[in-house]
Amino acid sequence: MSARLLDGARVAASIREQLRPRAEVFAARAGRPPGLGIVLVGTHAASEIYVRNKLKAASDVGCRAELFRLPERATLADVLDTVRRLNIDEAFDGILVQDPLPSAMGSGASQAVFDVIDPAKDVDGFTPINAGLLSQGRSVLAPCTPSGVIALLQREGIAMSGSHAVVIGRSDIVGKPMAMLLLHQHATVTICHSRTRDLPALTRQADILVAAVGRTAFVRPEHVKPGATVVDVGINRVTDSGEVAALFPEGSPRLADFARRGSVVVGDVHPAVAEVAGALTPVPGGVGPLTIALLLQNTVTAAEARAGWSASR
Ligand code: NDP
Repeated sequence: MSARLLDGARVAASIREQLRPRAEVFAARAGRPPGLGIVLVGTHAASEIYVRNKLKAASDVGCRAELFRLPERATLADVLDTVRRLNIDEAFDGILVQDPLPSAMGSGASQAVFDVIDPAKDVDGFTPINAGLLSQGRSVLAPCTPSGVIALLQREGIAMSGSHAVVIGRSDIVGKPMAMLLLHQHATVTICHSRTRDLPALTRQADILVAAVGRTAFVRPEHVKPGATVVDVGINRVTDSGEVAALFPEGSPRLADFARRGSVVVGDVHPAVAEVAGALTPVPGGVGPLTIALLLQNTVTAAEARAGWSASR
């Protein structure tokens, strides 16, 4: 393997370390810790794990996170009512509605939720106001996953200014804000998507290639310029033994993981890209831990901003 691994878990730990004193100072002045309200609808197995991790990570840095559970049969109106209650509850500085919402709520449900969350408590950075502020380069609460990628690149000394960054994916939660944040770091940015023609010709120009596609091992060595920095945002759970055997060479610890658990998490980047890239985020342990660290950072930032204490940061 030639690529340097960019250790997201280590950077996330250091961000959490820096948050603890800020949360303490806030709690001492406000008489309460920064508060995060998490709304979980239904019983989606992966969401249960994500929410449990967020609750634990919040309490580890001195925030108070509370879970609001709604049943699978809850309506969109029920979710919006819960959000409106959290909007006016002074104990909560941040509101997060765990994705995905039940499909019965319709394809526009998430957007309807983002339209209702108070932008000052929008720790996901998904409300139209915060998306607009982000495009103007003056956002306070930017989406956690792309912000985490920027923090990782900065702390690992990857130069963004003047580089050509190519983002595969244009979702509102990852691809678009990722492109915007890279632009604010003075990268020249190309955004690719499912209608892009001759994708490898574009991705091979990238000094920094970000994969946010949602397709297992989609980015292959032929997509990557030798020495490029490759950021793998993807989280794909693979349960097929043939697929796992085709991805990882014999003797790989990932095969042992699969034998033990019956599944492995694989990114959007093929493992063989490590032979071509100069630096690469692993999956797991790359971008994932940063998302939670940045969520907590946004919670503390929102608490300080709502109290008018942002200057103390
Ligand atoms: P979406 O499904 O919303 O977006 C996927 C994007 O990939 C779309 O813009 C789509 O294009 C594009 N795409 C799909 N197929 C191709 C193709 N053949 N060629 C080029 N582009 C293609 O996914 P998300 O943005 O929500 O998430 C992306 C990945 O990141 C997922 O694996 C998800 O699990 C992961 N993720 C990880 C997080 C973390 O904490 N690490 C947090 C959030 C997400 P089009 O718009 O044309 O359809």
